[in-house]
Amino acid sequence: MRARSDWHPAVTEDAVMRACARRLTSLDNPGFCLACGDEVEGVEPDACEYACEACGEAEVFGCEELMMEVA
Ligand SMILES: [Zn+2]
Repeated sequence: MRARSDWHPAVTEDAVMRACARRLTSLDNPGFCLACGDEVEGVEPDACEYACEACGEAEVFGCEELMMEVA
């Protein structure tokens, strides 16, 4: 995973925490692309380096995976 300082600015600690909370209270499976900042649905919580449908980079991570970095 890229360094926290290289994450897209849209992927904030707050956004990751809200995504994790949503996963626990709904059937959503949110993740984020660290390259373009897109929020992606249907991502396993421990997903690593999935291809992003928006930008094509293999930078999509599941919310739990990102939570370990921001916590
Ligand atoms: Zn992307």
